[in-house]
Amino acid sequence: MSRTSRLDVPSTDLLTEAQNRRHWLGQILGMGTGLWLSGCESPTSSEPPPAPTTGRHWKIVCTIGMVTDLVQQIAGELGEVLGLLSEGVDPHLYRPTARDTGLMMQADLVFYSGLHLEGRMTEDFEAAEKHGRRFYAVTPDLPEDQLITSDVAGVHDPHVWGDVQLWIQCARTITRRLQAFDAPHAAIYQTNSDRLCVELNNLDQYIRQVIASIPEPQRLLVTAHDAFAYFSRAYSIPVKSVQGISTESEAGVNDINALVALLVDMKIPTVFVEASVNPKSLEAVREGTAQRGWPVSVGGTLYSDSMGAPGTYEGTYAGMMDVNATTIARSLGGTAPVEGWRGQLPAAKTTSP
Ligand SMILES: [Zn+2]
Repeated sequence: MSRTSRLDVPSTDLLTEAQNRRHWLGQILGMGTGLWLSGCESPTSSEPPPAPTTGRHWKIVCTIGMVTDLVQQIAGELGEVLGLLSEGVDPHLYRPTARDTGLMMQADLVFYSGLHLEGRMTEDFEAAEKHGRRFYAVTPDLPEDQLITSDVAGVHDPHVWGDVQLWIQCARTITRRLQAFDAPHAAIYQTNSDRLCVELNNLDQYIRQVIASIPEPQRLLVTAHDAFAYFSRAYSIPVKSVQGISTESEAGVNDINALVALLVDMKIPTVFVEASVNPKSLEAVREGTAQRGWPVSVGGTLYSDSMGAPGTYEGTYAGMMDVNATTIARSLGGTAPVEGWRGQLPAAKTTSP
């Protein structure tokens, strides 16, 4: 009849949002089906983890792909890592499904981005962590003075992975969490983490170099939503967007008109769409500039809040940042190899329009 009987938990789309949230939180805190409490896993992080056995894979659940990729690389063969948010899914709007809840309940650890990126899940994650569940944000160790605060009072911009150096700090946080959880394998996590951070430092250098090659009059990045503030600050390219830092707010007519005027006045040739954001508002901007005699092209699709397809190069954090930097540099008149940082990009991805 309904999916309730089949799944033994109410289907999320049969509940109101408030009911769903209470249900979900109850499940996570072990007050729902009691699966956590009846399982062999220790329910609180204050207790020591179970003794590691040969061939054991920790079950680790993550939210966005960028977190999933870091965790997978640092955990290596010790982790069976699963990302809940797939390609093109917008984390600001995402609600956990009954399946997600089940996966998180059965996980040894859960990693999420934090800073309210997962807008509709964050409070519940924090509550779960307070109740001793192993739910960890990857961003809490970032120094306050390195976080960008949006115009909305006191709200930090969550898109920190746009600055590779900040994402390296998040990788260090993940490493410490894994080492605390599974101390006997601390050296393995450290080795994996160090290798990853060397690679990310090289990527950071590449991005710095190609963005610096964009000629001054064209150094402006125009995107659909404000996901590139950290990228902008780290790599010295001003950014303007139609929407605020969350995709939950609709772009207003005034925002669109202001951006049209800016593009026309500065003679900016190109704007960029984002893989996880509806391009509607950016289309309105393009129509506006065309009406004023300054048609702008679309410089390609950038990955802002989600990565490419799993199993592809763009489906990794390094790959998505490579696509972004190479596409931006080439579209705005800078110099970057058509196949990107390590020759792994399909040329079609970054070819200038
Ligand atoms: Zn975003």
